[in-house]
Amino acid sequence: MRHERLRDRILYCDTCGISFLWSAEEQRAAGAGPASPRPQRCAACRRLAPAPGRERGLVKWFHRRKSYGFLVRTGSPDLFVHGSALPSGVRLYPGDLVEFHVETGERGPLAAGVTVLLPAAEADQAD
Ligand SMILES: [Zn+2]
Repeated sequence: MRHERLRDRILYCDTCGISFLWSAEEQRAAGAGPASPRPQRCAACRRLAPAPGRERGLVKWFHRRKSYGFLVRTGSPDLFVHGSALPSGVRLYPGDLVEFHVETGERGPLAAGVTVLLPAAEADQAD
C-alpha cells in the first residue's frame, strides 16, 4: 500500500451547506486515510444538531409517581415518554432540553434512549 500524505480538505456540511476545513491533523487524529468517509457535518452542526437518527425536544410535563409524560417537538405531535426510557436516577422536569430517538410502541410512537442535554433550571439561569 502506497503511503499518501494527508492534505487539508475543504468539505461542505450536509446539514447547513457551509464549507469547512477537514485538516490533515484532524484526519490523522481520526486515523483517516485518503479513501476514508468524510465527516458529513461541520463542527457547529455536530454540536448543535442531534446525532443521526435522534431528535430533540422539551419536556412538556412528567408525572413522577406514574412515571410518564410528554415531550414537545418542533413540527411533530407531542411524544409520549415513559420513565423506563430514562437512565436510572434521572428525572425530567418541564422545560428540560432532551435528546432521544423515536420508537413505535403498542399505543403509538414513544421516546427511547432519552438523555437530558440541558436541565430547565440551568436554561433559566442563562436568560
Ligand atoms: Zn453545518
